[in-house]
Amino acid sequence: MNKKTIRDVDLAGKKVLVRVDYNVPMDGGAITDDTRVRATLPTLRYLLEQGAAVILASHLGRPKGAPAVEFSLKPVAERLSGLLGREVLFAPDCVGEAAEGPAKALKPGQVLMLENLRFHKEEEKNDPEFARRLAALADTYVNDAFGVSHRAHASVEGITKYLPAAAGFLLEKEIDFLSRAVGDPPHPYVAIIGGAKVSDKIGVIANLLTKVDTLIIGGGMANTFLAAQGYATGKSLVEQDKIELAGSLIKQAAERDVKLLLPADVTVADRFAADAAVKTVGVDAIPADWMALDIGPASAAAFAAALAGARLIVWNGPMGVFEMDAFAKGTVAVAEAVAASGAVSVVGGGDSVAAIEKAGLQDKISHISTGGGASLEFLEGKVLPGVAALADK
Ligand code: ADP
Ligand code: MG
Repeated sequence: MNKKTIRDVDLAGKKVLVRVDYNVPMDGGAITDDTRVRATLPTLRYLLEQGAAVILASHLGRPKGAPAVEFSLKPVAERLSGLLGREVLFAPDCVGEAAEGPAKALKPGQVLMLENLRFHKEEEKNDPEFARRLAALADTYVNDAFGVSHRAHASVEGITKYLPAAAGFLLEKEIDFLSRAVGDPPHPYVAIIGGAKVSDKIGVIANLLTKVDTLIIGGGMANTFLAAQGYATGKSLVEQDKIELAGSLIKQAAERDVKLLLPADVTVADRFAADAAVKTVGVDAIPADWMALDIGPASAAAFAAALAGARLIVWNGPMGVFEMDAFAKGTVAVAEAVAASGAVSVVGGGDSVAAIEKAGLQDKISHISTGGGASLEFLEGKVLPGVAALADK
């Protein structure tokens, strides 16, 4: 990475404002998954070891620019305190007297968490004055929030105009792995794209078509490609207005000598339900009243064979409606093939990550991205404003 990281900056005795992504899932005030908090621990431990005082800033949920108790970061501060094994102070606001007092009093080795940034509408508006007030709390800024780095928000982009800005370890790791996918990748390079809709991932498919040797398409979006090839897709999810585009992507793949793999068989259901009647059919035999909700076993085997010799695999989007066990088999088979391939593997996308965890294979993947939208934009080849704003090495 050509951006400065926390290894490149002087931290001793400094107050460091760290933008983290602690937008954790909550249920009735309880944190149901603290992965995002755990993911920042290496950065926080390093900063504290170097003698910094750490001020943490994050958003949580969508409070729409006003304080709301259900979106308070207080429970996250408590969880972090347990994980870090030290006290985490809490400021009931992220700017103004409530933040300035505790920030000023903070000593090296201490940790202060600020209340939800999005209690102020200025955060998402990238308001310069709000960014300046945040910056005034600290001497140095660190971005360790990959999941929001595609947003030019005050705590992500604006603040870098007022403070020296570097990447934390989590951000660095994300960029390092995702860069392999779009930079100068090793070959054979296989991308697997699935999920609900082509329209969400046109940019990713178009960009990856210029990089990969093999492109595997599964999930709901495969139906639109099958429709483009002239197959009758019954009641399957098909984006009528994207059939032409799918056809042109198929053509581009051929022109670029990219091997494009679409499902040859699918698991169809008579309704969108966990207990629907289910059967496997060839893609040329989807009954008019049925819908394809997973790839079939022949497709899963063909996809697995294509993954076997890969050196790099990038995966975004499940192969079927994996939330229902009856339609999770294709996704699990592909996840197992990725895990067994020995390739460097990078998985991004909220549902894809959930599917990998459901299959219990998270430890067999080289890198699981913490940022869904941000990883998609990166794979599209876009420059993320939060990364661009950091100081160059
Ligand atoms: P990610 O979050 O990993 O980027 P997406 O959000 O694009 O993935 O897609 C995930 C969703 O796609 C899941 O909710 C899954 O149920 C749905 N999906 C996958 N295959 C199908 C299908 N054949 N028909 C309808 N929905 C599907
Ligand atoms: Mg999703």
